[in-house]
Amino acid sequence: MADDWRGRPGPIAVLTGAGISTDSGIPDFRGPRGLWTRNPIAELASTYQNYVADPQLRVRAWQARRDNPAWKAEPNAGHRALVDLERSGRAVRILTQNIDRLHHRAGSSGRKVLELHGNMLEVVCVSCDARAPMRETFDRVAAGEPDPACVECGGILKSAVVMFGEPLDEQVIGEAAVYAQKCDIFLAVGTSLRVHPAAGLCELAVGSGADLVIVNNEPTPYDELATEVIREPISEALPRIVAELIAAV
Ligand code: ZN
Repeated sequence: MADDWRGRPGPIAVLTGAGISTDSGIPDFRGPRGLWTRNPIAELASTYQNYVADPQLRVRAWQARRDNPAWKAEPNAGHRALVDLERSGRAVRILTQNIDRLHHRAGSSGRKVLELHGNMLEVVCVSCDARAPMRETFDRVAAGEPDPACVECGGILKSAVVMFGEPLDEQVIGEAAVYAQKCDIFLAVGTSLRVHPAAGLCELAVGSGADLVIVNNEPTPYDELATEVIREPISEALPRIVAELIAAV
């Protein structure tokens, strides 16, 4: 029975990807109107080795960060549905591949959200790990520093987003893996499930007895493992799923 999973009472892990934020006006990366399709420089600058090696690329990267549509984005009904799920008293963790902070801004508790790929609100020094707010660094760019250096050590600054060629935060991934293994329901929302280790969390969850439910427009490599695959707009599907989950237990 495909709908049996709704009645399982245990913890719920929700893996979210770019698809949950497209209804907030944030383009995905590789789609026809995606960020990298329209601006190949942004993809080049997303690889750590290129970024560190090329000052001109960093200058363009700071401009691109400032122009990122995510700064003007607001959470949508999909983000808000997950807040409702948390407030219903269910044990829930959001494992997000997004860097836009829209789960926090919608009202999800910070301790319930694991940011697998970091966040865009801070900058970090590649040499000494010092952090500073992105807004302050934008002010330095506007004031005439096209590639601002770390104020602590003079090192190269980057956004606190995990780049290609950079390791993920082991503690965050570890926590996500523990949760994937103990959840009853693993909901994968708006993610193509092609990026590891985030995608591998699905396998871990299913291997530990969870029902995998996929909400995504396009097929994913994990559709066959899923108890149910839902192809509807996320900001419509997620509020309904959350209402069903709350009603079922
Ligand atoms: Zn530094």
